[in-house]
Amino acid sequence: MSANNTPNGKDTDGKTSDDNANDKCTLCGKSNAKPCENCGNANYCGVVCKNADAALHKLLCHQYKDFQDRPSKHHVRCIVLPVDGSGPVFKWLHQEFATNPPDETKEILGEGNFGIKGKHLNEDEKIAPGTYPYPRVVQIFYRNDFFKADLELNVSAARFPGLHNPWKMFGPFLFLSYSDLLEEDFEVWDNVSNDDCMRKEDCDTTTLRHVQDLLNLLASLMP
Ligand SMILES: [Zn+2]
Ligand SMILES: [Zn+2]
Repeated sequence: MSANNTPNGKDTDGKTSDDNANDKCTLCGKSNAKPCENCGNANYCGVVCKNADAALHKLLCHQYKDFQDRPSKHHVRCIVLPVDGSGPVFKWLHQEFATNPPDETKEILGEGNFGIKGKHLNEDEKIAPGTYPYPRVVQIFYRNDFFKADLELNVSAARFPGLHNPWKMFGPFLFLSYSDLLEEDFEVWDNVSNDDCMRKEDCDTTTLRHVQDLLNLLASLMP
């Protein structure tokens, strides 16, 4: 999305999440939090919140700086959890607005059906309350034939702190972030269905908390 977009008047500063002007603590939501010295992406009110987030944050902290240059305005930053244990990793994903999901997801998830589950973040969100200037959704894309033996164990999931049962996670995972579509977009894109009416946004290091939640949600559904 354009850095000049002012979403819906809710973002009263006229700033977007890309401006990194939000000084709320990534964990507790307190104001006047200081940005991470390395990546500048996550904010912490003090050493307690910083330490509490350290194991998760470090998974993407060092990659964040290398993922600032958007290949084109059609690219969004997503998070991929490959099976080989190297993840989580950031990846630029080319996405046409109304294509959901895009063909490119097949390169990440492989051929075959896959499932999608979403997590809505709003003002009541207990993690990073008020960090986001407008409602958004983080979605996990996973292979639908999750239980089949031909999918490899996801070794990257085992690197995640706080995962209740990483040994139940098979196949690759893809995470995308969306914000609610703005009214003016409905006028421009009046031929797209409601399901498509979400604005794709960049994932960043703070998305990891929601990645963790979604993986645990999925693991809880395993037999
Ligand atoms: Zn805090
Ligand atoms: Zn950092």
